[in-house]
Amino acid sequence: MYDYIIAGAGSAGCVLANRLSADPDIRVCLIEAGPPDKSPFIHTPVGILALMRSKTLNWGYYTAPQPHMYDRQLFWPRGKTLGGSSSTNAMIYTRGHRWDYDHWAELGNRGWGYEDMLRYFRKAEHREAGGSDYHGTGGPLNVARLRSPNPISLAFVEAGVQAGYPRNDDFSGPEQEGVGLYEVTHKNGKRWSAAQAYLREAEQRPNLDIITNALVTRVLLNGKRVEGVEFLRDGTRQVVRASAEVILSGGAINSPQVLLLSGIGPGEELQRHGLEVKHELKGVGRNLQDHLDVLVVQRCTKPVTYGFGLDSLYRGPKGIYDFFVKKQGMFTTNGAEAGGFIRSSPDEPIPDLQFHLTAMCLDNHGLNTRLLFQHGYSLHVCELRPKSRGYISLNSADPTQAAHIQPNYLEAPEDLEKMVKAVKIARNVLAQPALKEYCGDEVFPGKQVQSDDEIREFVRRKADTIYHPVGTCKMGNDDMAVVDDRLRVHGLEGLRVVDASIMPTLVGGNTNAPTIAIGEKGAEMILEDRKRGSDTVPPAVAVAQ
Ligand SMILES: Cc1cc2nc3c(=O)[nH]c(=O)nc-3n(C[C@H](O)[C@H](O)[C@H](O)COP(=O)(O)OP(=O)(O)OC[C@H]3O[C@@H](n4cnc5c(N)ncnc54)[C@H](O)[C@@H]3O)c2cc1C
Repeated sequence: MYDYIIAGAGSAGCVLANRLSADPDIRVCLIEAGPPDKSPFIHTPVGILALMRSKTLNWGYYTAPQPHMYDRQLFWPRGKTLGGSSSTNAMIYTRGHRWDYDHWAELGNRGWGYEDMLRYFRKAEHREAGGSDYHGTGGPLNVARLRSPNPISLAFVEAGVQAGYPRNDDFSGPEQEGVGLYEVTHKNGKRWSAAQAYLREAEQRPNLDIITNALVTRVLLNGKRVEGVEFLRDGTRQVVRASAEVILSGGAINSPQVLLLSGIGPGEELQRHGLEVKHELKGVGRNLQDHLDVLVVQRCTKPVTYGFGLDSLYRGPKGIYDFFVKKQGMFTTNGAEAGGFIRSSPDEPIPDLQFHLTAMCLDNHGLNTRLLFQHGYSLHVCELRPKSRGYISLNSADPTQAAHIQPNYLEAPEDLEKMVKAVKIARNVLAQPALKEYCGDEVFPGKQVQSDDEIREFVRRKADTIYHPVGTCKMGNDDMAVVDDRLRVHGLEGLRVVDASIMPTLVGGNTNAPTIAIGEKGAEMILEDRKRGSDTVPPAVAVAQ
């Protein structure tokens, strides 16, 4: 019997495992579907390309056909190992905009405003560049500057400035707006995942058990009280029990899936799959939001980018030497080294588009191998606060089957128009003098794509995820909310969700650091409630407003 069981060892789950087990009197069990994070591809930043294809460290999901994108089914990678997606992501450290958190608070979520969240960002962080009112030092999550940025990344920043955007060396400081090099979750040139940051020391503690290769299939309910979880390991079903709480941290796809499989969710859907309705909660899986992204790809006239070619015969071994001996060089690249946050028009009060510049010719997440054999660079641009909403539901009552993922991209016509603007803006940046010496032919959209209609068509045919699904167990008090502002599942005892799924609205930035901050705040609230003895008090049931 444990006090707490955490289902999912990702960005949030690792934080919880560490913070809860810091008290030797609290027994914690962390259950992870994937294997331990031993692969060298995880720890070598450039390994992200290999992780995209991994069958063991990546869930490798596909969405349902996209009705507004010619029924394309889009690839949705998610990390499946200790550290979760923080072990397979692009390591960019950003937080979103102050407005995003103040908006969560305005929606009625007490304690989630920007000033409140700043405390958790700072608590988590160790910023090598130094602490400030905005940044922490001494926290577990190492945040570093890139050691060997590519010349294209540096030229992109100059091009952005030439296009009229402010230079910004700190997207998580007083101003988010501008272009610059990203800071990354690296230490000594290596990936610094949530597992590296939060588990390495904690996994030695006798009061923390970590079970890997174990798929949580459902939570166990006794009336309205959650008492444990069932999981599948080596083909056998096993049960573990928690005296205090079960915490779901499986991420925005899997946490709602586990709730649904447990009979917690919209009754009609559960019945359709032959599942007993144990707790009607109609918001489970709804409110799915993601950053839709489009790429403008340019051939590079000089062999400075990360494309594979004859020069790799020299650059490859040099990269290995630089990485292992000097802890720098091209193997320390996080893929998307530079970028920024800009406003698509002066009427926007805050940045509504984000750039990610990769010094590679990319198509379809790098899965289009042919393009990787050319020198080139790709400017991603995504809309930060899309209006379209999708959902996660079940394909099957079988827990080993993937959930049904319907992001419903471009459902809102405004989203398509914003993406058209985004393509034009990206092209303008890439045409600036700072990139002239590198600038070859445009691969995508291609020079035949010029009119707004042609760009709309291009977006529908090519736009893709930039990996930030959130919102499917949203926090709030309306009748579609799944958790309250202490992250307790409405109407049940002993069950919380703590991960990216609780965000009521998508933040305007990358989602790893925000999810780690959610983990920090979640852990603090769990420990506070434990002290008060209020973890046995049923949370408020959602009320329709
Ligand atoms: C390819 C990629 C690139 C990205 N790049 C960036 C970036 O550069 N910067 C950034 O800020 N964000 C980035 N993100 C997003 C960011 O990493 C995620 O938003 C964040 O990691 C989500 O954290 P989480 O805790 O909600 O879920 P995850 O970190 O995905 O963790 C969920 C964990 O739960 C496990 N799990 C799921 N279901 C079960 C189950 N039933 N039983 C047991 N275990 C289960 C999973 O295997 C996983 O380990 C990227 C994501 C991806 C996929």
